[in-house]
Amino acid sequence: MLNEDLLAGDRRSGATHADDRQTFRVPPAPAVPPSEDAVTLLRDAILNKLAYALGRTPATARDRDWFAATALALRDRVVDACLASPAPAVPNKRVYYLSAEFLIGRLLSDMMGNLGLADTARAALAQLGVDLDAVAGAEPDAALGNGGLGRLAACFMESLASLAIPAYGYGIRYDHGLFRQLIEDGVQREVPETWLAEGNPWEFERPEAACSVGFGGEVAMTVQPDGSIRRVWRPAETVRAVPHDTTVLGWRAKHVNVLRLWQARAEEPVDLGRFNGGDHVGAVAERSRAEAISRVLYPSDSTPAGHELRLRQEFFFTSASLQDLVRRHVAERGDLRSLPDHAAIQLNDTHPAIAVPELMRLLVDEHGLSWEDAWHVTTHTLAYTNHTLLPEALETWPVELMERLLPRHMQIIYLINWMHLESLSKHGRVDAGSLAAVSLIDETHGKRVRMGHLAFLGARRVNGVSALHTELMRQTVFAPLHALDTDKIVNKTNGITFRRWLHNANPGLTRLAVEAVGARVLDDPGALDGLAAFAEDAGFQARYAAVRRGRKEALARVVKERTGIRLDPGALFDVQIKRIHEYKRQLLNILETVALYQAILAEPHRDWPARVKIFAGKAAPSYHQAKLIIRLASDVAKRVNADPAVAGRLTVAFVPNYSVSLAEAIIPAADLSEQISTAGLEASGTGNMKLALNGALTIGTLDGANIEIKEHVGDDNIFIFGLDAAGVQATKAEPGYAARAIAASPRLKAALDLIASGGFSPGEPDRFRPLLDEVTGPDRYLLTVDFDDYWRAQRAVDAAWRRPHGWWRAAILNTARTAWFSSDRTMREYAEDIWRVRVGPGA
Ligand SMILES: *Cc1c(COP(=O)(O)O)cnc(C)c1O
Repeated sequence: MLNEDLLAGDRRSGATHADDRQTFRVPPAPAVPPSEDAVTLLRDAILNKLAYALGRTPATARDRDWFAATALALRDRVVDACLASPAPAVPNKRVYYLSAEFLIGRLLSDMMGNLGLADTARAALAQLGVDLDAVAGAEPDAALGNGGLGRLAACFMESLASLAIPAYGYGIRYDHGLFRQLIEDGVQREVPETWLAEGNPWEFERPEAACSVGFGGEVAMTVQPDGSIRRVWRPAETVRAVPHDTTVLGWRAKHVNVLRLWQARAEEPVDLGRFNGGDHVGAVAERSRAEAISRVLYPSDSTPAGHELRLRQEFFFTSASLQDLVRRHVAERGDLRSLPDHAAIQLNDTHPAIAVPELMRLLVDEHGLSWEDAWHVTTHTLAYTNHTLLPEALETWPVELMERLLPRHMQIIYLINWMHLESLSKHGRVDAGSLAAVSLIDETHGKRVRMGHLAFLGARRVNGVSALHTELMRQTVFAPLHALDTDKIVNKTNGITFRRWLHNANPGLTRLAVEAVGARVLDDPGALDGLAAFAEDAGFQARYAAVRRGRKEALARVVKERTGIRLDPGALFDVQIKRIHEYKRQLLNILETVALYQAILAEPHRDWPARVKIFAGKAAPSYHQAKLIIRLASDVAKRVNADPAVAGRLTVAFVPNYSVSLAEAIIPAADLSEQISTAGLEASGTGNMKLALNGALTIGTLDGANIEIKEHVGDDNIFIFGLDAAGVQATKAEPGYAARAIAASPRLKAALDLIASGGFSPGEPDRFRPLLDEVTGPDRYLLTVDFDDYWRAQRAVDAAWRRPHGWWRAAILNTARTAWFSSDRTMREYAEDIWRVRVGPGA
């Protein structure tokens, strides 16, 4: 979905939901039409690619072919931008961003936008009788991530390029990204995702830069001529890591970086002896085993999969990436002791934490540095970002598995641990009890390596992703380590790239912002604050509301197509879109929906504002409670949408297969953003930022970056409810809170009773028993305790929605005041405080 369609929507709808004083009189910036020459040039380039790269003619080309041809033509332009770049071939310092996930989404509008060729491409394709929106829609999402963590990595890559910070992203080129979600009778079914089925026009395969990654085997000792002992890892098995590079283009094509994703291949494609002996399957068994490493993304976003394959994936991409950057450094600078001056390696969560012993191994065993020099290099090059404090999500690996798969690394981890504990006890800084807390080995559940502790010790800086989360890191999981080095933990609140989440996802709003405050807003999101001056302006409000209305109509079409549910674009669109997880509390939202349904039935003559509840999100396949939450949302939708008594007042939709592309369709259409996690459990959130930027008002708890959003948009322009993190702790200290809260809330009790009596599962009252048992029993996520205040906040939303002037004022102020959540700001902070790398020219 791209510009003109949506702008057409804007024109169609006219002013809505704002009073009719028209005072906004800024003359529209003259639209500069693309030059005829540029259009012809791009058109011919696309035709060329279609013929010579794809072997197709315009007569037989499908949208997917036009997409590939357009992508290849644009990729040439990116290469041109690369070649024309003023940046030195050997920059003084590079950033290496290691992440097991990059949730990229589609790249076409990103590339067109940053090349400044969106209008040119539309015109060029139009000359060929082809619609750009259809072409863009034919691009598969690159879904190489589960949710927020992977999307953050993708936003960071775009911002690094836009800031002209020399950087490589390193990750895994999964054949199959996050599963495609089907909803059948309310039940989630996962089917494999196949983004590479028709090739990937954005990437360059680089077989010449491949390297080998070992597994298993043993550690041999050799005596050097000088009498010293050197340890040599002799892996039992090696796997080829083949890089595939995607160019990452910065805003206005000023700078190009590379996202290098590793594909696993067998060293030998086939065992010829076995094949010729007739064992055709056995002959490729080795190959299947090797290639399994980059086959699929683990569909778990907050619990470590306890699978050997997962550890193999982590080591595979970490080792290949470190080998790659070490090789580059040696070629460019010679001496590895200068690595910290020229490289900063960021570990996105603990998935690449094995980098600590792997870098030590490369430096000591392979390149002959002393242990002390190598430790200095390692701890001045690595930095680590923590993304969660949920105990079940803190990654640990059994020592036994590590010893078998990575024997040399286990030795190095033991040595690091020994030196760490020795130095503490020598300086009298710990007693026996606290030694256990700071040890790299957790002895309480069998021996396991604590990957967070390992990353912490190996890093020069460790960061949290919002102010609250960073503070909780210091107070809880990392408290004992923090006490030993109080400068190490720093905060870097997450951000989002405005090119994708404002310019490309919401061109109508972007155009309005440009008209109101000038084109510099495209380069400097800080200029958005100029919109505040128009917040009360009826004419501007009408324009702003019309943009929203156009997007709501467009979303209604998508929802109708995918679910058959008809949405009224005039209703309040209340959205909760994110992974399904108990701590994110979609269930709280559903309980409120049920209570609202009952309230409307009980008082049909009250002026309930029309509301549409939109849910989207995937559940990890083995996470039964999360899947049951999806089922409940779907079942509630079924009954509510069929009940004429609430028709026109309440509609519920669960939109299947949440993805970056779906997020781009929903976010500009949202009026209300649900950010209702149990306080203390959402590290930051970034969906909250995307929605606030696009002018949805937040209903949320004092959790993660919600707190900072509240500080920026102001208390009057956000709906806060519920316990804060300290309140959650205090409540949890007094068991029995759920029973007390339910007893005190007839409304909550009635909603629970309706579900328990089969109100949404006729003939099967026990369908939702596991959810109800959790909520009425331990209620670990404190739904019952927060329910009444959530209900109150939702009714405050109703009241605010009935006053359009105030509503749009608040919405405009959300857009005006969320510039700080640009990932450009986040990346500048990392550059200054963590990486100590210069932001490039023009940035
Ligand atoms: C932004 C985004 C997320 C993260 O959403 P949260 O609400 O912060 O959990 C997850 N998935 C997709 C596709 C996103 O675009």
